[in-house]
Amino acid sequence: MTTEWPVRCHAEIDLGALEYNIRALRGVLPSGCRYISVVKADAYGHGLSRVASFLAERDLVDLYAVAGLSEAAVVRGCDARAPILILSAVFPGEEDLLVTHNLTPTVSSAGEVERFDRAAARAGRKLPVHLKVDTGMGRLGIWHEWADPLFRKLAEARHLELRGVYTHLSSADSDPEFTAIQRRRFLDVLGDRPEWNREGLLVHADNSAGLDTFAPEAGFNAVRIGLAQYGVPPFESASGRLREVGLRPVCSLHSRVSLLKELPAGTEVSYGRTCRLERPTRVAVVGAGYGDGIPLACGNRASVLVRERRCPILGRVTMDEVMVDVSDLPEVACGDRATFFGRQGAAEITIREFSAWSRTIPWEVLCSLTNRVKRVYLTSSCKPPSDRRPVPE
Ligand SMILES: *Cc1c(COP(=O)(O)O)cnc(C)c1O
Repeated sequence: MTTEWPVRCHAEIDLGALEYNIRALRGVLPSGCRYISVVKADAYGHGLSRVASFLAERDLVDLYAVAGLSEAAVVRGCDARAPILILSAVFPGEEDLLVTHNLTPTVSSAGEVERFDRAAARAGRKLPVHLKVDTGMGRLGIWHEWADPLFRKLAEARHLELRGVYTHLSSADSDPEFTAIQRRRFLDVLGDRPEWNREGLLVHADNSAGLDTFAPEAGFNAVRIGLAQYGVPPFESASGRLREVGLRPVCSLHSRVSLLKELPAGTEVSYGRTCRLERPTRVAVVGAGYGDGIPLACGNRASVLVRERRCPILGRVTMDEVMVDVSDLPEVACGDRATFFGRQGAAEITIREFSAWSRTIPWEVLCSLTNRVKRVYLTSSCKPPSDRRPVPE
């Protein structure tokens, strides 16, 4: 038996909420629409192997999307069958692993077509690929005006099989007009070539934010969802499909009060003395800091829930501790739970709120939780949504 050593800071991962969100998201999509679950970056910090095993066990998703090969290997270990789409460009030398583990790389260039085709030929197999079109992200994909020759080259590659065509939206959370332009550019590329619009080909553009304006009538038949499945809305002013989805946060972050002390008015708190106490103050030292993923930037801005009350962080975040003002909480005790984001009774700090205090985005908050933060999994909290039916196609 190994001893379970206590941890100072832990994240609770509510797998029931994850299931709820995926079912709810699928419920606002047409019934035939494929759900590509984005589990890159350790499933947005939620723990890739637990999340992928859970998704596989409950048969919740159609495909997985990861950034690279090492993540794909973990997913393959959890789900032997489902297609795994590699979103990022594959490095030279990694082609044979794609073939051995039946992974689906993204193709953006003629060079990749050649490399993947050669590797598949060596193994005497066919390798599935998704072709990516750059419609305004400026990252992966072939620029939309120049896509034709790449499609032709791919059609001639005897050991590659085109299973999907996709693009990525750069501003779906902030600029619906540009998103519409991107969709138009993408569909123009496809429309020029009716043979690409064949049965069974996955056509996808939408990330979480795109979902709000997802248009199945245009021919999209798959979505790639990351943030929203973890229960965080990609933006606040959803007015379309996302508005109806009551997402439940999957991850919450907690530590505990490790020390209580009184400090006199005029004392300056933490590194750099950026906070001067205006009154005699009861200070709680809470056992989490930037070594756990609490951004430095939320010092003097964020609050922490203790006993269901918001208690402001005093001064800079340090590596292992933050100091919070608990002067208004006479009943506070050492060992009390301190919540950086998540619920305590009726009180809640959302990840979005925490990310705004931290001058960053919810995606980065989740990806910043470090190894030191123990992930504790809960499975039971939510019933699947029952009031939603897939939208008829
Ligand atoms: C990360 C990623 C997604 C998921 O984005 P969310 O905003 O988290 O839903 C989708 N597509 C691609 C290409 C990505 O890199």
